[in-house]
Amino acid sequence: MRTLLVIGLSWAIGLALTAHARNEPEPRPASALAQEFSQARARRIQQQLVGDGTPRAIGSAANLAAVQRISTQLTQLGLQPALQQRLACAQSRCGNITNLVARVEGRQPGSVLLVAHHDSVEASPGASDDAAGVAVLLETARALLAGPSLRHGVILLISDGEEVGSLGATAFATDHPWMRDVAAVINVDNGGTSGLSLLYGTGVGNLGVVDTYARVVPHPASSSVLAIGHAYLPRASDFSVFAARGLPGLDLAFAGDEALYHTALDTVERTHPGSLQHEGDCVLALTRALAAGDLQHLVSVDAAWFDLFGRWVVRWPAVWSLPLALVALGLLALTMRRLRMPPMAAASALAAALLATLASGLLAVVTQLVLRRLALIPADYIRAPYWLVLAMLGVGVLCVVAVSGRLVRVEPAALELGVWCTWTLGAVTTALVLPGASVLFLPTALTASVARVLLGHSRYAATLTSAAAAIALAAAWFPAWALAPDTFGLSALVVFAAPAAWIGSLLLPGLASLSARQRRWLMLTTSSVVLVGLGGHALARKFDAASPQRVNVIAYTDATARRSVAIVDTTWGSARAAAPAPMRAALAKLASRTPEDSAPFAWSSTPMLFASLAELTQPTPAITVHVEASHSEATTLRVQLAPSVRRLLVLANEPAPIASLRIGTRRWPSVLRPGRHGSRYRTWGLYAPAADSMLKLEWDSAQHAATELTFVADMPELPDSFRALLDSRPSWAVASQSGDRSVVSLRLRP
Ligand SMILES: [Zn+2]
Repeated sequence: MRTLLVIGLSWAIGLALTAHARNEPEPRPASALAQEFSQARARRIQQQLVGDGTPRAIGSAANLAAVQRISTQLTQLGLQPALQQRLACAQSRCGNITNLVARVEGRQPGSVLLVAHHDSVEASPGASDDAAGVAVLLETARALLAGPSLRHGVILLISDGEEVGSLGATAFATDHPWMRDVAAVINVDNGGTSGLSLLYGTGVGNLGVVDTYARVVPHPASSSVLAIGHAYLPRASDFSVFAARGLPGLDLAFAGDEALYHTALDTVERTHPGSLQHEGDCVLALTRALAAGDLQHLVSVDAAWFDLFGRWVVRWPAVWSLPLALVALGLLALTMRRLRMPPMAAASALAAALLATLASGLLAVVTQLVLRRLALIPADYIRAPYWLVLAMLGVGVLCVVAVSGRLVRVEPAALELGVWCTWTLGAVTTALVLPGASVLFLPTALTASVARVLLGHSRYAATLTSAAAAIALAAAWFPAWALAPDTFGLSALVVFAAPAAWIGSLLLPGLASLSARQRRWLMLTTSSVVLVGLGGHALARKFDAASPQRVNVIAYTDATARRSVAIVDTTWGSARAAAPAPMRAALAKLASRTPEDSAPFAWSSTPMLFASLAELTQPTPAITVHVEASHSEATTLRVQLAPSVRRLLVLANEPAPIASLRIGTRRWPSVLRPGRHGSRYRTWGLYAPAADSMLKLEWDSAQHAATELTFVADMPELPDSFRALLDSRPSWAVASQSGDRSVVSLRLRP
């Protein structure tokens, strides 16, 4: 019982320290010293960039106007901004981008590249993502210019087209002459509106940059687990472009209140002042340190690291993880022999920990499926996810309590050492498979094994070891784990339940010493927590103005079939919520018929609520395609678009005998995407397209006459008749990502 209380208390302290460590710093006023980063000065820049809040999607008038405003500000700083404008391609997407670049000269060759993007998604003012990043860069440049001259220069890249696949960053990396001088990169790109600016990603051989981060950042917030998670999640940023080219660097972002990310609600007022201040503090300190340091030898070995409650960064070369884990294992084996503990204890603890984790994970998956079925997880991000998080933590602990009842044959003192062996085996496994992830196990394992040796036979050895290891666990786990609700939302409940059971393995020795009655009482209490969590979740409102449902309105015209539909699209992430009742009613009224629920686009299986309209919403053609020349090897098409078209998709039903598609002289890469009924489409995307483009299709067989191409154009405006439908969107719903728009498709056999 005593050990249980001590571990509980240690975790409470760890939780309090974590919460304190994640507090945003005090923002600095406009009157701050010239060499300091001031939130108030940065916010003025952010405000000017966002202007009236019109989204700055690639190719839009607002995008170009914003470039003008940033250019003026760079000139006012005494820099000489230059534009990089061209057609850029990355993956299957091409687009006409406008990058803005400027440089602060250094005394020696080699430069630090600072990157933030000025474009936004079509539905959002993009104040945090990423006008805040641009503001951080400009205020940093101002502070640098106010200081002494720099050893290495600093290049500012205000990139375009990040939101459609890092097109601007790719253009800079592939053919800007300054790229040759770049030796390190700092990318600033936010995924939410609040919280500390976290170090999310680094390039390979990152011990050098992590060391710099640890030395100079006043309030560190990072972990190699975060960097690993970021690398595996399909959420690329401009940083990926440079990391893929082997450059060392740091990818920074604040990501709290993810529900507002890429929505119309990402406004200047919602960007937390403390988040902006912290991001600026990090970027200024890092830039100064990198520009003053030895850029040639920055790339070294890979590191494993975590911040110790926001004060220091504990770090080591990742290759040390295995030897350190083996040292911990050796020390534990020694202690077990000295205390004559049966080796079976380790096997029991390992079996119990794995069983509890597995059971907890399974229960989470089942809960997820059932709740989705019942429409109780209508979106990954809802107003109050904490009820369900509480229930999942409860499930984890419940599983540990349940398995502990089967272990009474192993004496608690032996079980305690067995638990530390289990954690050490976790450290050995991660050291072998994913060394950066060893931060999750090694600190706990090493603390426990060393403490056990130092404390020897003393009376409180077990209790004090548990306390020390529980604190080490809290430091390595809690800050990264606390990000899970903002990172995953409710898309994977297993992220909460399974680790809760694994962490709960620390409680096993204490639980094994309880009487059957005490254990039953504990099971009852934990079950109640689970039920309260589930009940609270079922009853809680899912959306409100601060955490809204994402709903887009689309007017779609199939110009070939001469048919139009109105669509209410509620898909987001891994979930699809029901359309708000007022919008369903307005849709029925607009179409004078009951809406259907299936896939409205031939090239996608995504279901949406839609209704056919009596009249065409796009009477004048937005796309016209003429065959200019054709022979058995190649067909040249002239594609003319209405001026408001901001995206053109070209799709070919697979298998299509297309060797390549060229736009102008440039080869245009494609991706394969699943369509309806098991079909597959080769897809090409063009952003900010010219009004008049020549496409050249090169065939790889003369048998191409049956190939059908589909051209799809997106435009930001909706017909006037949609006004009532738009007005029916409730206050707790918001447009996001590509936003409200008109879509026109045209089929052609070239
Ligand atoms: Zn962004």
